[in-house]
Amino acid sequence: MKKYLMTPGPCPVPPEVRLALSRPVIHHRTEEYHAIHAAVVDGLRKILKTEKNDVFLFASTGTGAMESAVANTLSAGDKAIVVRGGKFSERWGELCRAYGAIFIPLDIEWGKSVDPGLIEKQLTENPDVRVVFTTLCETSTGAKTDIEAIGTIVAGTGAILVVDAVTGLGVSEVETDAWGLDVVICGGQKAFMVPTGLAFVCVSEKARERVDLAKSPRYYFDYRRAKKAADKNETAWSAPASLIIALKESIDRILGEGVENVIARHALLSGALRTGVEALGLKVLADSPADGVTAILPPEGIPADDLRKTMLDKYGVHVAGGQERLRGKIIRIGTMGYCDTLDVIAALSALEMSLVNLGYTVDLGLGVRAAEEVLMATKKHKRHKK
Ligand SMILES: *Cc1c(COP(=O)(O)O)cnc(C)c1O
Repeated sequence: MKKYLMTPGPCPVPPEVRLALSRPVIHHRTEEYHAIHAAVVDGLRKILKTEKNDVFLFASTGTGAMESAVANTLSAGDKAIVVRGGKFSERWGELCRAYGAIFIPLDIEWGKSVDPGLIEKQLTENPDVRVVFTTLCETSTGAKTDIEAIGTIVAGTGAILVVDAVTGLGVSEVETDAWGLDVVICGGQKAFMVPTGLAFVCVSEKARERVDLAKSPRYYFDYRRAKKAADKNETAWSAPASLIIALKESIDRILGEGVENVIARHALLSGALRTGVEALGLKVLADSPADGVTAILPPEGIPADDLRKTMLDKYGVHVAGGQERLRGKIIRIGTMGYCDTLDVIAALSALEMSLVNLGYTVDLGLGVRAAEEVLMATKKHKRHKK
């Protein structure tokens, strides 16, 4: 059966990126590698919208890059704020605990987004907070955070702002310099369209000062070593050169389409998906939905995992289920990176047919039609060029 990978990571890899992965392995301490590394960092800076913040590449998944941010900015006993509203944002708290940092949890209902004013209040009451940890898109709920507003608040304090943008960068707007983001965490297997195993971080001047002050133990992920290597267009340890070559291909694709167009395409596709889902009488979980992943509550009486399994087994559309407290309660559809109009239509069609298979009464084509109407209304302005 033909498969449609529509999970919120890993995400599909475009043909030219797969071809790049088949190139001969090169050594990472060579002029040839240096040129590729420099081009990748330059491209990432364009996508991150930063003039001169450092960009470090790591052979790890996104969680490794998250750990690097905690290890490099906090000492045991330091105070942090952690905004928690899902499985991924809770990871920031677990990491703080692992490094002995004290954190103030700012807990929000799963599916909701934090009110930036609450962060301002906590920072005023706790002027000794060193780091604020946030998540641009909470992948477990599909909720988006107003990072711009939080950035403005944190920039006026002595604290630094760390943003998990693993499912946000390359999907929605990220203005690292303009919003004052100090550490931005990214991963390769979401909107960057490469296989899992590559993460990168973007570090500001303000964060660099904290890196020198932090006393947490660190070795592999030490930003000081990473900086020395990056200044030579290298990584501190063996670079995953083949993945980085693939990443360069993906970045070329993103820049070729244009960052603004890529963001508009994600907004259009996920907007069409949400419209289609709601036309079927289903509910989108998040109040402020992100454009890379859509969490959907199935209708009463239809178990989410049966729906997910039917979509996969009968129609080859691979979507994700819920995690932790949302296990068995939602399905999550990824629309990141190499995703276009007909992927959304395929997902909606599989969703409709699976609902009917499971005994839910719905007019076939209702969701697809609603989505097509959204897609056609704006198609001329926002169509993916390639
Ligand atoms: C995927 C993801 C990560 C990284 O997870 P890994 O499995 O370590 O790659 C981190 N944060 C968010 C929000 C994610 O979606």
